[in-house]
Amino acid sequence: MVSQPQGGAADDRFDEVHHDASAHGPPDAAEAGTDTADRRAAPADDVGPGPPPGEASAAAADQTDHDHGPASGLVALSDHLQGIIDAVRPLAPIQLSLLDASGCALATDVVAHSDVPPFDNSAMDGYAVVADAVDGWLPVSGEIAAGDDATVPVEPGTAVRIMTGAVVPVGANAIVPVEQVEEDEARIRVRRAPQPGAHIRGAGESVREGETVLVAGTVLDAASIGMLAALGHSYVSVYPQPRVVVVSTGEELADPGTERPPGAIYDTNSYVLTVLARDTGAQTVRRMIASDDKVRLRETIEELLPHADVLVTSGGVSAGRYDLVKVVLAELGDVRFNKVGMRPGMPQAFGFIEADPDRFIPCFGLPGNPVSAYVSFEVFVRPTIRRMQGRRDLSRPRISATLEAPLDSIADKVEFTRVTLRRRDGEWQARPTGDQGSGILRSLVEADGLAEVPADRDRLDVGERVVVHLLRGA
Ligand code: AMP
Ligand code: MG
Repeated sequence: MVSQPQGGAADDRFDEVHHDASAHGPPDAAEAGTDTADRRAAPADDVGPGPPPGEASAAAADQTDHDHGPASGLVALSDHLQGIIDAVRPLAPIQLSLLDASGCALATDVVAHSDVPPFDNSAMDGYAVVADAVDGWLPVSGEIAAGDDATVPVEPGTAVRIMTGAVVPVGANAIVPVEQVEEDEARIRVRRAPQPGAHIRGAGESVREGETVLVAGTVLDAASIGMLAALGHSYVSVYPQPRVVVVSTGEELADPGTERPPGAIYDTNSYVLTVLARDTGAQTVRRMIASDDKVRLRETIEELLPHADVLVTSGGVSAGRYDLVKVVLAELGDVRFNKVGMRPGMPQAFGFIEADPDRFIPCFGLPGNPVSAYVSFEVFVRPTIRRMQGRRDLSRPRISATLEAPLDSIADKVEFTRVTLRRRDGEWQARPTGDQGSGILRSLVEADGLAEVPADRDRLDVGERVVVHLLRGA
């Protein structure tokens, strides 16, 4: 989600990434499809999760208040997001087998090294003939099934029985479907003379050798994986799925399924954030730390870091006495804290932490209110994951809708309001789902999207157009 139309800038930078791995051929190692940890051991120059220490969070943290002036103390959402996107790089490409690559973005263009289909073949079960020599009864001189090497030539005035997908034999220039002939033992009579080329699928009619069939950044789905298979590829160079480690924190948290002590609430965010991360295609590790103790927070996070390409924590980044996550993250790496001009989700920590020697990963400290955590994920974490995945489309789709109720907002903050959508007279209509408190998950459950009130507006009226970020779908 980008509050300003700045996706193009991020997309341009995407093109700086080198695409040097082959799209075809064996994997570097036999276990390339499974060993996620080893795959990331040697990032190429311009790939890998992040810049050297220092540079990274400077990008996000240096955007002090030029948009709003020191009075507000807020960093503009668009600046904060741009700083993050600028600092994050796609992971180093790997070779994956076709099925393992499904859902990943291609790291290189794929150029057809052969025609598809590779030879002229029959589109019907029928008879291969010479189109202008089909008068009277034609002797059937042989049969070619799909998969046969077509060795039976067709002479004018004769026919060869042929099955769908079989190679068109030498000499033939048309197929007569079996339904259009009279069959009598070893001869046939054609009811209507075919046009030359009838029912023949020409070599290369789907793809010509030398054509670019898929471009880098394409997210592989059933059709594109099918295309790769049709070209004979068994492995493909893709950006791996990041491993997202989600950690919710807070002394008050209890695990669902356990007895809830007095004063405790059930941990919601580790589930919300893990499901959102999975929805991006990422691999996930979920952990809840029912504590605000600095040592425990630090130990647990340190233990998880080697398994992470991205770290996402929730809670402990506000101004309270026990909001120590931001302190711990800042101790572990170059992670800085910002007040971002958005609601919900104002307190945000972002930066890079050394997860293994010389491997720096982006790290997000998200606020603890469940809706704040959710919205923060959509605004900052999803684009980050998608960037690491080598995707060009960094956010979910947005639409424009007409407001059925007014929306209020506060100065200098982009306001995300949970709305339902419905079609009326060919237009999308948006209506708030109810109480918009940042802890009220219920109004998110009912929402189809998040309506965005820009930072420079404090109210949008009924009938005004609003951008809505869709919460479901790609
Ligand atoms: P914090 O950001 O730690 O100040 O938390 C803000 C609010 O969110 C508090 O009311 C917390 O109890 C609540 N909260 C924090 N973490 C979670 C969580 N994992 N699940 C549900 N609520 C949470
Ligand atoms: Mg807390």
